[in-house]
Amino acid sequence: MLERDHDVDGAFVYAVSTTRIYCTTRCAARRPLRRNVTFFNTAAEARLAGYRACRRCRPDERRPLEPATAAVIELCRRLEQDPNTDVGTFASEVGYNVRHLRRCFDSLIGVSVVDYAQAQRASRVRASLREDTTIVDAIYRAGYGSSRAFYEHGAPRLGMSPRTFRTGGAGEHITYTSRRTGLGVVLAAATARGVCAVRIGPDEEALESELSAEFPRAVIERDDEGLRELSECIELAARGQDTTALPLDLAGTAFQLRVWRELLDIPLGTTLTYAQVAERIGAPRAVRAVGSACGANPAALLVPCHRVVRRDGSLGGYRWGLEVKAALLDLESPPTP
Ligand SMILES: [Zn+2]
Repeated sequence: MLERDHDVDGAFVYAVSTTRIYCTTRCAARRPLRRNVTFFNTAAEARLAGYRACRRCRPDERRPLEPATAAVIELCRRLEQDPNTDVGTFASEVGYNVRHLRRCFDSLIGVSVVDYAQAQRASRVRASLREDTTIVDAIYRAGYGSSRAFYEHGAPRLGMSPRTFRTGGAGEHITYTSRRTGLGVVLAAATARGVCAVRIGPDEEALESELSAEFPRAVIERDDEGLRELSECIELAARGQDTTALPLDLAGTAFQLRVWRELLDIPLGTTLTYAQVAERIGAPRAVRAVGSACGANPAALLVPCHRVVRRDGSLGGYRWGLEVKAALLDLESPPTP
């Protein structure tokens, strides 16, 4: 949508709560704030929800989709219905070579069919855990063949273990530590499974209240002693030095996780452009979405989103302030002989 991608035109509409209007991706209107936007698969659903059609882009006059795009979108719907949908069977049903269809899926959706199906399974587990079923029931109902398959593929995507998810995060135990570095105060927090947040700011108290806001139902405690290794890593990273790879426990969408994973592979002392990252994850047109995923990175320094810059060499954005990004890149750049 942000790319005004004509290939997905007609695939969905978006509705804006402040104007009560729905639009297509081709609309020339200014892009609304994300928090005001709801997506609908069809214009009819948007109307049912009380929105009216935009007069500029006329979303009710649906133009036919490119056949490959239509096939990819149909596959998304099938995977939403049944995450175990067989891609090979579907491909022959719609008359496509399965490898070609997978490639189209990758470039249009920005994640692979496998990742998309896994994200669907994970969100089904989340949904059914909110109802009162047992965890094992929820795992099977979500389409995992065994609880082992769930813990291998599903659990990390939840970002929280299923037991704590059922109670809305209550009972999750998060410890944190903070230290003053050359970049400002850095606060780092971890669950039992790994680092869940690293934030940089001028003021320790503000960082602590941000952390409580992010995990409102968790028990949050300071534990400088228990997190000494993490704290030492932070100190090294803030000085632009290499650190050991600590386990991470990050919650994000399938696309965000894919971007963050790619960022972990950018070596210290080098940078990539947003476009290069988009290319590496197989979604060359999703440059802006890569930028948003970088901006949403919950673990500053450890997931080095600061190593992504604009094509023209300018810094682009940084959630923790451009001065911090500039300082970090400067510290990390190899000494000139
Ligand atoms: Zn419009």
